[in-house]
Amino acid sequence: MPVVNLPKIKHVRAFTVRGGGADYHDQGAGHWIDDHIATPMARYPEYRQSRQSFGINVLGTLVVELEADDGTIGFAVTTGGEPAAFIVEKHLSRFLVGRSPADYEKIWDQMYFSTQYYGRKGLVVNAISGVDLALWDLLGKLRQEPVYHMLGGAVRDELQFYATGARPDIAKELGFIGGKLPLHHGPAEGIEGLHKNIADLAEMRSRCGDDFWLMLDCWMSLDIDYATRLAHRAWDECGLKWIEEALSPDDYWGYAQLKKNAPKGLLVTTGEHEATRWGFRMLMDMECCDIIQPDVGWCGGVTELMKIGAYADSKGVMMVPHGSSVYSYHFVITRHNSPFAEFLMMHPGPTEVVPMFAPQLLGEPVPVRGKIRASELDKPGFGVELNRDIALHRPYPN
Ligand SMILES: [Mg+2]
Repeated sequence: MPVVNLPKIKHVRAFTVRGGGADYHDQGAGHWIDDHIATPMARYPEYRQSRQSFGINVLGTLVVELEADDGTIGFAVTTGGEPAAFIVEKHLSRFLVGRSPADYEKIWDQMYFSTQYYGRKGLVVNAISGVDLALWDLLGKLRQEPVYHMLGGAVRDELQFYATGARPDIAKELGFIGGKLPLHHGPAEGIEGLHKNIADLAEMRSRCGDDFWLMLDCWMSLDIDYATRLAHRAWDECGLKWIEEALSPDDYWGYAQLKKNAPKGLLVTTGEHEATRWGFRMLMDMECCDIIQPDVGWCGGVTELMKIGAYADSKGVMMVPHGSSVYSYHFVITRHNSPFAEFLMMHPGPTEVVPMFAPQLLGEPVPVRGKIRASELDKPGFGVELNRDIALHRPYPN
């Protein structure tokens, strides 16, 4: 049998889109995700009520589309908007055109090291992640295989989800295994804010019963003293399962201290704003947390997540990726140290299950009774198509 040569990449296109989707903070007024959520900017009263007020949705979604010379198209969505589109079209495309999508290791290496002088984390790695996910989607579509097959195959028959949103009580009714609440009050709101945080959590505990997992997402908003006090009260009074992203992602020393300070049994989690094997190695080598939570659309894509996940597995650390819909699902189903997954409840209430990246993806699977069967992922690539009825803007056509 001759070796099959895959078609080469012929066109690279980067689009921006507004209104939800991969930039899930880009929502209308009245959405739970923008309702007085604790942030590092909440020390300024004028930016306390709304994250959109300080610009959380300023970038919008990035869509990366790769077309092979046989006309097959792979694509992915992530955040990063117009500046990421510039990086993809003006810088990264040179490492893609004329190449085979099967060469994802070399392509990743060239994208990362060519941008290292201005990149390494954040926006640039969002852009790299978007390209990498589009490469895997194209590779799957060319090979007529789902991405999870190419990653080693399913180790479970189904994905099991916890729900992130303001209504864990409704998440429980919908069949999820747990509910993660946003923290509403940060250190600038003083002891009264701390009492309110505990009262909110206690109210949810009374609605959900003793055994349902309840978690708190602190979105980088706390200091070590506040996080320690919150962790102890939330554990003692409300049976909290984990405290997520309590501190700045740059404060590895703080996380290591928080993990020591936290009550035994309460899990410390973080990582959604961390990037690459090197960032996660810091978190794990410094014993910062019990669960790492990389976002595959932000940490470097699937190619980098494989390295991060393998290191976590060798260290005995659980990896539960942040949100990111199908791009996470195809990975989580293949790994024993990723035993469940996150589902972001993007309904404004949130009182019902809606597709996480709506309206950008067609065919996006959603949990039913908190689960998605592996067989629902049995479509080429990531198994979704780009919704071309929404307004795609290409700011930097080559
Ligand atoms: Mg989070």
